[in-house]
Amino acid sequence: MRIAVIGAGTYGSYVIDGLLRKYPDADITLFDVWQRGVKSEQEIGYYTTLKQALYKGLSDGRFFGFGGASDKWGGQLLTFSDNDFAHPDAFMRDVISVDKARKDEMLAKFKIENKYPEHHISDELFTKTGVWLSAFHRNFFNWFRIHKRKQVKILTQARVVRLIADDSEAIKEIVYLHNGKEQKASFDYYFLTAGAFESARILLASGMLKGDKVYFSDHLSTKVFKIKGTTKIKDEDFVFRMRGTSLITKRMIGEKDDTSYYVHPVFNLRFPFFDCMKEVLFKHHFEWKYIWIALKDIPHCLGFAWAVLVQRKMYVLNNEWYLYIDAENPAKDCYITLSEQKDAFGIQGVDVYYHVGDKAAEVYESAKQAAKNVLDEAGVCYEVLAERIDVQTCEDIYHPYGMFDFKSIDDYFGRWRNMLVVTTGCLPRSGGINPTASLLPMVDEFIEKHAFAGADK
Ligand SMILES: Cc1cc2nc3c(=O)[nH]c(=O)nc-3n(C[C@H](O)[C@H](O)[C@H](O)COP(=O)(O)OP(=O)(O)OC[C@H]3O[C@@H](n4cnc5c(N)ncnc54)[C@H](O)[C@@H]3O)c2cc1C
Repeated sequence: MRIAVIGAGTYGSYVIDGLLRKYPDADITLFDVWQRGVKSEQEIGYYTTLKQALYKGLSDGRFFGFGGASDKWGGQLLTFSDNDFAHPDAFMRDVISVDKARKDEMLAKFKIENKYPEHHISDELFTKTGVWLSAFHRNFFNWFRIHKRKQVKILTQARVVRLIADDSEAIKEIVYLHNGKEQKASFDYYFLTAGAFESARILLASGMLKGDKVYFSDHLSTKVFKIKGTTKIKDEDFVFRMRGTSLITKRMIGEKDDTSYYVHPVFNLRFPFFDCMKEVLFKHHFEWKYIWIALKDIPHCLGFAWAVLVQRKMYVLNNEWYLYIDAENPAKDCYITLSEQKDAFGIQGVDVYYHVGDKAAEVYESAKQAAKNVLDEAGVCYEVLAERIDVQTCEDIYHPYGMFDFKSIDDYFGRWRNMLVVTTGCLPRSGGINPTASLLPMVDEFIEKHAFAGADK
């Protein structure tokens, strides 16, 4: 069985590790557009244009090269439970059930565990605890040592541009650009893991989707409360805890009319030294001026070191912290389509139509009220920063979902005879979590029970 994995990022690396655990003799070819280092959309030369409103998910939220976005991400691994959705559709129910069954096994691959129970903190909100990857082990490609696996042939500077399928929805060949030349290759099974938008672009360019649009949505985010004093709300402490070099975080999640939102703490917003730490840890970017910034603010830097190294928790500058509300964007008519414009590879780029509909304002008001009720009941001292939430100014964050309309787990695993697409875009909802890890148990389930079922027919 010859297997192609298209994209050496977060999901591609996880898929390869999963395959090799079950099939140590698998013959895998990994295609990646990698040139040198991990690059942004602009640096790699992909083209997107925004047709409406602001959406930075493509320009600022995707990265190319070994490890993909996992090289830059937070690394918070969260999964869904029965508390997340009042009315999950059939596919979402399947995702929840597989998440529940396989969460521990998936987290164990990263040597972490999350046994923290979820609690209803009010009628509307429940808490979920998140465990992050170690600050020094975020890149999945490196974590799973993909470059050391002798069963994996890695083809770099290989951008897959389209797939060729036959009438029975089986992929016959992939077409890729290698050092500027178009080439073709054929395999028994394919995993499309080129990121949500590039995977959708490849499927559109291959004529493998109904119509010429891929609908999607994403989370919106805005700062709503400033809290003065304790990080405890009722019996729950929201300060980040340290476990090894990993963070343990907590959020409150709720829903309004089947649109999820989450209320989460953010610390040290005006602490230059903390910003420098984030630049170094997340973006691997160091400047000598960071030392000067630390020296100018020695008392707070010492406080930070004491909190992190001795108390094993996040430092809270001036005893002030913030609550953000992030919500699913309920607009149903955001989509991408192939652009007239070509990118640096001479390939049609992507036009993005994204806007924030009126319903988002209702969701935000409801979320704000639910959070206020909890803060009032707990006697927390707070200031409302956004009296009326103007959702048009909400920052989007990078959790695209709702792209492919899978009806059930069988539809997901079998939509294409010899290909599985793995991106957050496959999820019908992002709910109240950063959803990347919620699809990893589905990958395990697929490899364990279903892999290659249709390939030989
Ligand atoms: C700043 C930031 C923080 C985040 N924090 C979190 C978090 O804490 N928790 C969470 O759950 N999610 C988080 N996310 C989201 C998370 O990073 C993504 O959901 C996840 O990385 C997507 O994985 P992927 O495999 O689909 O894409 P990627 O990891 O981006 O991988 C795509 C791969 O495909 C390759 N590729 C692209 N095009 C082609 C092509 N045509 N041919 C061949 N190869 C190609 C790329 O080089 C890349 O290696 C964060 C995102 C950002 C930007």
